[in-house]
Amino acid sequence: MTARFVNSQKIGILGGTLDPIHLGHLRVAEEVREGLGLEEVLIIPAFSPPHKLNRPLTPFRDRLAMVQMAVRRCPGLKASDIEAHLPTPSYSVRTLEHLQRLYPGKKFYFILGLDAFLEIATWWNYPRLPELAHLVVVSRGEKTDLGEALSQTFCHFIPRGPNEFEGPKGARISFFSVTRLDISSTRIRTLVAQGRSIKFLVPWEVEDYIYQKGLYRKEEAERPE
Ligand code: ATP
Ligand code: MG
Repeated sequence: MTARFVNSQKIGILGGTLDPIHLGHLRVAEEVREGLGLEEVLIIPAFSPPHKLNRPLTPFRDRLAMVQMAVRRCPGLKASDIEAHLPTPSYSVRTLEHLQRLYPGKKFYFILGLDAFLEIATWWNYPRLPELAHLVVVSRGEKTDLGEALSQTFCHFIPRGPNEFEGPKGARISFFSVTRLDISSTRIRTLVAQGRSIKFLVPWEVEDYIYQKGLYRKEEAERPE
């Protein structure tokens, strides 16, 4: 499933807590955008994630501000505050349904890491997701067979190619290989709390913002890595 030309009907979505956004997220968005010929990828910080976190979440306005500054010079990537305008908790199915109403006729590609995909059965109304958007599962270097990963959740999907599976109502799930950047927001928060460098893991504007606002200094400082 590689396209060389941009198709204005195709829009990518990359969501998450993005606390903070880092170069792993940005590189995934850019590679999938280019590889699938998407017009743009909307990067959507979760307003109110339904899953309980074992830490306080950074305010939405800060997480959104960091996404906005991270994509400022990337024409194909766009920050979206859409979840701030939707009911809470922020369910991906609801966000996608809303996007379909906003952009009738567009085809959506919902990008998620393998770690997130392996937990998809815990998401609200998850069987609906691949009906609303083509799921594009990207790996951070994990060696997992997508067929095996699907067997937990979408076992009725039929292989349509080595990395592509089809379900009822035209639902699609594919595996997309990206440059391995083993970066996580957790690691960045820990490094900041420990007073260590986060250079070359996040865009420099995001690094500056984190220090200016004093983000991530305290909450994880006591916790061993
Ligand atoms: P945390 O450590 O707080 O969970 P995270 O780095 O996993 O943060 P999320 O906001 O949880 O970031 O992830 C948003 C989406 O981006 C998820 O689908 C996740 O799998 C994916 N993702 C995060 N980091 C990477 C990476 N380095 N490479 C590929 N995908 C990634
Ligand atoms: Mg995560």
